Amino acid sequence: MSTRRLSGKRLVIATHNAGKLKEIAGLLAPYGIECLSAGQLGLPEPEETGTTFVENALLKAHAAAKAAQIPALADDSGLSVTALGGRPGVYTADWAERQNFEGPAGRDWYMAMGKVEGLLCELGPDADRSCWFTSVLAIAWPDGDEAVYEGRATGTFVWPPRGTVGFGYDPAFVPDGYDQTYAELPFQQKQAISHRANALAKLVAEQFGEAGDA
Ligand code: IMP
Repeated sequence: MSTRRLSGKRLVIATHNAGKLKEIAGLLAPYGIECLSAGQLGLPEPEETGTTFVENALLKAHAAAKAAQIPALADDSGLSVTALGGRPGVYTADWAERQNFEGPAGRDWYMAMGKVEGLLCELGPDADRSCWFTSVLAIAWPDGDEAVYEGRATGTFVWPPRGTVGFGYDPAFVPDGYDQTYAELPFQQKQAISHRANALAKLVAEQFGEAGDA
């Protein structure tokens, strides 16, 4: 059996995260895909009620495909720390929510990285700092069909955060085989090795690679 393939060239990128959008649009550029963002189309941001990356990626992709009536691609991603039993994982974005904050809505990534660091410090100076990023990319078609691709990047959680490129937890993540954090590496270098690039490579192989028994 073969997986459904994208037939058109237009795809909604179902995210309101500018960092994710920039990375996904860049990774898809060589395939002639016109990326329309959820923000650009005025699509609402659905509540992420799933308990796994796959559930959340699918619910975002289906909501956008249904609203825009063209295929949509969503990313659900997060950082998992080995010594913290895989936390924050699917709740990575939630750890940046400011509690009891009366001001404008927003997320505080420095605070979120600080929570991870605080928990690792409680485990002592020899705590295992290994961690991994996961990216699940889901494509949904307006008729309800779907496809899912998962990518990973392993590395080390470092403190203090370093670098200014990228977004989210980039300044605290040193990918295996490198000395610099994601936020210190040039943008194109992260694009070559990231969890999102890993998931996208699987998507590209299936969606734009040589047709199998289709
Ligand atoms: P969600 O996919 O909307 O639940 O958000 C996942 C969160 O994980 C993002 O808001 C970032 O904080 C973090 N994250 C996911 N991918 C990356 C990345 O490539 N670099 C840094 N942080 C990331």
